[in-house]
Amino acid sequence: MNTNEYTQLKALLSAQKNIVIVPHINPDGDAMGSCLGLYHYLIKLNHNVSVVAPNDYPEFLKWLPAEDTVIKYDSDQEKAHAVIEKAHLIFTLDFNSLSRIGAMQAALEKAEATFVLIDHHQQPDAYATFVYSDVSMSSTCEMVYHFISNLKDVDKLDNVIATCLYTGIMTDTGSFRFPSTTATTHRVAAHLIELGAQHSEIHNKIYDSNSWSALQLLGCALSNLKVLPEYNTAYITLSSEELDKHNFKKGDTEGFVNYGLSIKGIVLAVIFIENKQEGIIKISLRSKGDFSVNELSRQHFNGGGHTNAAGGKSDLPLNDTIEKFISILPSYKNALNR
Ligand code: 5GP
Ligand code: MN
Repeated sequence: MNTNEYTQLKALLSAQKNIVIVPHINPDGDAMGSCLGLYHYLIKLNHNVSVVAPNDYPEFLKWLPAEDTVIKYDSDQEKAHAVIEKAHLIFTLDFNSLSRIGAMQAALEKAEATFVLIDHHQQPDAYATFVYSDVSMSSTCEMVYHFISNLKDVDKLDNVIATCLYTGIMTDTGSFRFPSTTATTHRVAAHLIELGAQHSEIHNKIYDSNSWSALQLLGCALSNLKVLPEYNTAYITLSSEELDKHNFKKGDTEGFVNYGLSIKGIVLAVIFIENKQEGIIKISLRSKGDFSVNELSRQHFNGGGHTNAAGGKSDLPLNDTIEKFISILPSYKNALNR
C-alpha cells in the first residue's frame, strides 16, 4: 500500500463502519493474534467490529484478549452471514487466497464490502482493493503493527493490542529464530514489551500448556520419524488410529514437524497427518536455506505458504501419499544436496 492508499483508508476509517476481520482456516497464533490486535485497534476507533474465523483454533490461544467474541463460521453460520452481509470493510489477515478459508469462501465472494488484505505469504490472489502484502515480513502481526503505524496511530497502541501482536510475532518466528526475523522485528517486539506485553507469560501460555497425552503423541510421532539421507529429508506420519489412541485435540501436533528439521544436515522435514473426518492427509513442510517448500507444496500437494514453511493436503490414503512423496524426491535431489 502506498501513502495515497493509506490516506484513503484513513478517510474511510474516520467515520464509524461495520468491519469484519477474517483469519485463515485452522487459525494459528499469527492469524488469531493479528485479527485480535487489529480488532482492539478498530474498536478503539469506535467501529463495529467482528472477528469471524472459518473454524476453531487450539486451546493454547484461548486466553487472547477478546477471543471469546470470535464467531466461528463452521458452528455459527447464521451470525457469521449476518455480520458479513452488513460489513462495509472486510480485512483478511494471514492468508492471500480466498481458497484458504474453506466453506466460508462463498460468503466472502458474495460480500459487497471493500476488502483489505494484510499478509506475508507468497503469490497473493487479486481480490482486495487495499493490498498490504510483503513476503519479507516475519508475521502478519508485525505487519499490523506497521499498518497502524502507517495510519499514524502509534499512540493508539496499548498493552492489549501489544499482547495480541507479540503472540503472533513470537509464534510465527519460532520465538525469534527463523530467518524472517529482522532487526525491525526485534524493535517492534521491544516496543510491544514497553507497551505492556508480558513476553515470558505469553511464552508460557503458548508453549507450556501441553497435556500428558499430547506428549505421548509426540513420542509416537518421533518413533515414526524416518530419515532419507540421500535427500537430506526427514518425515513423520501420524495415522488417525494413532491420533485417537492419544486423545488428539486441535493444536496437539503443532511444532512436531520441526523435530525432523533439528536433525543435523536435514534440509526438508515433513509431517503427514491423517484426517479421517475430512478424508484428507494434512501435510506440513519445513525447510532450511533456499529450498522452497512453497513451490514443492504448490506443485504436488495443492498447498503453499512460505519458502521455509508451507502446508498442503493429499486425497490419497496415507501410505500412497508417502509413496507419492518419496517418488517426487529424485527431481529435487540436486536442490536438496546444495
Ligand atoms: P502449517 O504447516 O503450520 O499448517 O502451515 C505452514 C504455513 O503454510 C503457514 O503460513 C500456513 O498459513 C501455510 N499453509 C498451511 N496449509 C496450507 C494450505 O493448504 N495451502 C496454502 N496455500 N497454505 C497453507
Ligand atoms: Mn503468519
